[in-house]
Parts: sequence; structure tokens; C-alpha cells
Amino acid sequence: MERYSIIHEKNPREIVLLRGSGCIYRKCTFCDYHLDCCTDPAANFALNREVLSHVTGQFGQLEVINSGSVFELDNETMDLIRHLCRERGIRTVHFESHYLYRERIAALRESFRPVELKMKLGLETFDRHLREDVLHKGIPVSEPAEISQNFDEANLLVGVTGQTASSVREDIELGLQHFERLCVNVMCPNTTAVEPDRDVINAFLREVYPLYRDDSRVDILINNTDFGVGD
Ligand code: SF4
Repeated sequence: MERYSIIHEKNPREIVLLRGSGCIYRKCTFCDYHLDCCTDPAANFALNREVLSHVTGQFGQLEVINSGSVFELDNETMDLIRHLCRERGIRTVHFESHYLYRERIAALRESFRPVELKMKLGLETFDRHLREDVLHKGIPVSEPAEISQNFDEANLLVGVTGQTASSVREDIELGLQHFERLCVNVMCPNTTAVEPDRDVINAFLREVYPLYRDDSRVDILINNTDFGVGD
């Protein structure tokens, strides 16, 4: 599995896929990537240290993902990321977190200063019915301003039955109002029972993708390995 890559387009940055203790939530119906985990912190640190050794700091920006939330990474890995940021001139570090950890984000931000921390929320959609009754995301609020509190960036998902080109466009527009950056992920087949809806995806590619393809605030992953990490 690729765990280090460079994103050259839009907000150039290095990206690493690290391994943590595992997503404590695990209820999202469309997700199987939480399987990349290990309960042994020493084994995780050994793997993460090797992956992080590739980071050069060349863009001053590092994105760290871990098939779950940043709070599931071991302490030694977190200390090493802090050290690397300072040593290699990384000014901004990006992490991901589930909504349930929102109260812990401010302290994590403080612990990284003067490095700026950007936290990405796995939101998927602002449509509460789709998000909670179908995808089981575990974000029990509806107001975009409340959802985005504590977070700087968000993941959106495209390809769920029930979405339309216009509902996805509404999600992106709302997302751009409430977050600094978005990552739009086109759903790929996986081991869960939730199948990507080809009609929704085709409508998105035809009608919505061209509108945001060149928007520097919107990353669009047609395949889930487009950032160069994962398998
Ligand atoms: S999408 Fe994220 S929060 Fe949901 S089960 Fe997967 S890893 Fe956990």
C-alpha cells in the first residue's frame, strides 16, 4: 500500500497515510477503510516513522490521514509529526477527524503552534436524512455553521442513491461558504453493501465536475487513490 505521496495540483502538499489504533466510530455504512489499523502502538509507530521519513517539507504543507481520526494516532507518532513540522519548515499540517472529537481539536491546535493546523471533517453531505439515516455519519446537528464549528475543511461524498447533480452542487456551494477547502470524493466500490450509484456519478461528472474542476479550494477525487496513497 502506498503511504507517501506528493499532491502537485491545487494547494501543493505532501501527504502521508499513517496507521492508528482504528476508527472508534466505525458505523458509517459506506466505509471499509477503517480496516487499516493495528492495536499495537509500537508497531504503528515503527510503520509511521518509516513513512514520515520521506517527508521533506518542500511545500511547507503536510496532510496526514490515517483511515480514521487523528486522535487515534499514538503519542510517539504525534510527537514525531510536531518535530518534523518544526525541523522541515512545514507551516501548515492538515488532519482529519470525526465530529465526535470536536471538543479536543482546540487543544491539538495549540499543541502544534506556531504550525497552523487545519482539521478536515468527514461530512459527506449537508442533507441530514442522507447523512444520518442512510450513511450513519454520526453528526447529530443540521445547521451548517454548527457543523463546521471547530473544523476548517470537509470531505463530501458523491454517488449515493438519492443524490442528484443539483443536490451535490448545493452541498459544494454550502461547503464553500462554511469551510476553507473541500475534498469531493466520488464513491468507489468496496466491501460494504453500499453500492456507488452510477447515474448520480455520471450526472455529477457531466454537470457539476466541470464547474469546480479548476477551483483551487475544491479537490475532486474521481478514484479514491487519486492523492497517490492507499490501494
Ligand atoms: S468514514 Fe471515517 S468515521 Fe466513518 S467508519 Fe470510516 S473511518 Fe470511521
